[in-house]
Amino acid sequence: MSQQCEHAKQVRDVQPHTPAGCEECLETGGWWVHLRLCLTCGHVGCCDSSPGKHATKHFHGSHHPLVRSYETGEDWAWCYADRVMLEPAPRLE
Ligand SMILES: [Zn+2]
Ligand SMILES: [Zn+2]
Ligand SMILES: [Zn+2]
Repeated sequence: MSQQCEHAKQVRDVQPHTPAGCEECLETGGWWVHLRLCLTCGHVGCCDSSPGKHATKHFHGSHHPLVRSYETGEDWAWCYADRVMLEPAPRLE
């Protein structure tokens, strides 16, 4: 069952700010488990299994609702606002 969210329609062609890893962790010398890419602004943050949880913190600070997995071979997105998994990740029309 594929449940959609309104935010998927606002997906833009974002460029990752920090292709090498989590923006905050790279600054502070932290480490991460998995990476998430904000589909509103291109922020790269780490997942909730990482000490920093910067993807979630980015949502709380910015209210950008959608992130997609920034891991090779993974094609899904998560909407924080609707708490819904979108698989495959939304594409540009
Ligand atoms: Zn949504
Ligand atoms: Zn981080
Ligand atoms: Zn963002």
